[in-house]
Amino acid sequence: MGNRFQVRDRFAEGAQFIGGRSRPGTSGRLHAVVNPATGEDIHAYELAGPADVDDAVAAAHAAFPGWAGTTPGGRSDALHRLADVLAAQADDFAYAESLQCGKPIKLSTEFDVPGTVDNAAFFAGAARRLDGASTGEYSGDHTSSVRREPIGVVGSVAPWNYPLQMAAWKILPAVAAGNTVVLKPAELTPFTSLMFARAAQEAGVPDGVINIVTGAGPDAGERLVGHPDVAMTSFTGSTAVGRRVAAIATAAVPVKRLHLELGGKAPFLVFDDADLEAAVHGAVAASLINGGQDCTAATRAYVQRPLYDAFVAGVADLMATVRLGDPFDEATDLGPLISHAHRDRVAGFVDRARGYARVVTGGESPGGDWKNGAFYRPTLITDAAQDSEIVQSEVFGPVLAVLPFDSDDEGVRLANDTPYGLAASAWSRDVYRTGRAVREIRAGCVWVNDHIPIISEMPHGGYKASGFGKDMSAYSFDEYTQLKHVMYDNTAVARKDWHRTVFGDRQHSRP
Ligand code: NAD
Repeated sequence: MGNRFQVRDRFAEGAQFIGGRSRPGTSGRLHAVVNPATGEDIHAYELAGPADVDDAVAAAHAAFPGWAGTTPGGRSDALHRLADVLAAQADDFAYAESLQCGKPIKLSTEFDVPGTVDNAAFFAGAARRLDGASTGEYSGDHTSSVRREPIGVVGSVAPWNYPLQMAAWKILPAVAAGNTVVLKPAELTPFTSLMFARAAQEAGVPDGVINIVTGAGPDAGERLVGHPDVAMTSFTGSTAVGRRVAAIATAAVPVKRLHLELGGKAPFLVFDDADLEAAVHGAVAASLINGGQDCTAATRAYVQRPLYDAFVAGVADLMATVRLGDPFDEATDLGPLISHAHRDRVAGFVDRARGYARVVTGGESPGGDWKNGAFYRPTLITDAAQDSEIVQSEVFGPVLAVLPFDSDDEGVRLANDTPYGLAASAWSRDVYRTGRAVREIRAGCVWVNDHIPIISEMPHGGYKASGFGKDMSAYSFDEYTQLKHVMYDNTAVARKDWHRTVFGDRQHSRP
């Protein structure tokens, strides 16, 4: 890992990026970003206050006409250059992402950063394909066409679990479609969003098109979400905060476009003809990726009775091999959780589960070298009831609950039995069984014999309490554009046929 730079130096001018300029926030409050692996402060920055949000929205508002008027080819060129700048700075991005999140460097290097570069390249291409319906004479007397237009200033709010990818998912489709953006990353993880905006400036994206305000949710976040000059609110985070954001956005004047990517509680459904070894490996990888702090992580495995015991034993054995440690050690599989407070929250779920379920492995923080970090061991829980907290609530940590089921009907029913509907997987060698799971599971993504991979070309988004709207893919343009129907009269007749519904009689009849 080459590029270990001093975060303090890089953000010495402040942690706001407004109108193309870095500056400090004016809230009067400092926020220390803590290295979750050690508990040491990385850098304290001045949080954005409402005045900073107002400035950022004003900058985005001023930049909108020029950017919306840039040709698709022009926007595409800038995003291609952005992909190149991001790729050239890949080591810096991976370093900063692992530092602020504690995620293993191999995850940042092989997943977060290349995924972001690929997203930028995808939206560079997609910017030139903002399709509408075909133009035609649908009434006979008119020609109709559809214009797909940007919405205006998009106010985006993002979580801390994949800060760089979340910034990319929020910013790229919005700006590819001609909008301008003010993004508020989570206050715990501001650095890579700021670096993304600076990379865009380096790539030639005009100042004001991408603005970053790094502030707290209740003040900077609510100011942004409710701002009258923000035409669309795009939020990714927990369902609880999403509900609050929705209430503020819908109460705001004028009415806003809303896109909500919320929590998840993904089921992992294993039928009795599944490849057991594949299912065990898949469950451990999908429940522990990013420390389980992944909205699509496998959290509830339902295993058909004949495979249940072997699956539990296999998962316990494989979890025991996961190497916990320094995020910057290439051999580390599992870093700390995002913060000590979050680690304690995860531990609280597991401790309460001890009263009604069995903790097979894990369920504790390591001592020794890692006692100052926010670490938590891979945790496997069995014997929990379907309606228990550990099965129903989003834990957002390295915790997998496994439950048995008997009939296929029961398995699919249990998979659907939480308020969430973001992602799921079905494991079987029988295409009819997986086909049924694909059709009947109410979630925005269903994997078959895998769980976690995502790609830029395909949409990501939730059903039910996991929200609505899509990130990534050309489908995201449905969120970030509005359709205008344009209807041209072809008759050149002053008194048109339809006028008789308002005055007089028919003037001419159709053939
Ligand atoms: P969170 O809801 O606590 O915070 C998300 C963002 O909202 C942060 O930037 C925070 O500062 C801001 N915020 C908090 N209160 C606010 C308010 N009153 N008004 C406006 N903004 C406010 O979520 P988190 O803990 O940062 O992230 C974890 C959650 O995100 C999990 O629930 C996870 O499932 C979800 N998530 C969902 C997706 C998805 O695609 N559906 C992706 C990643 C994470």
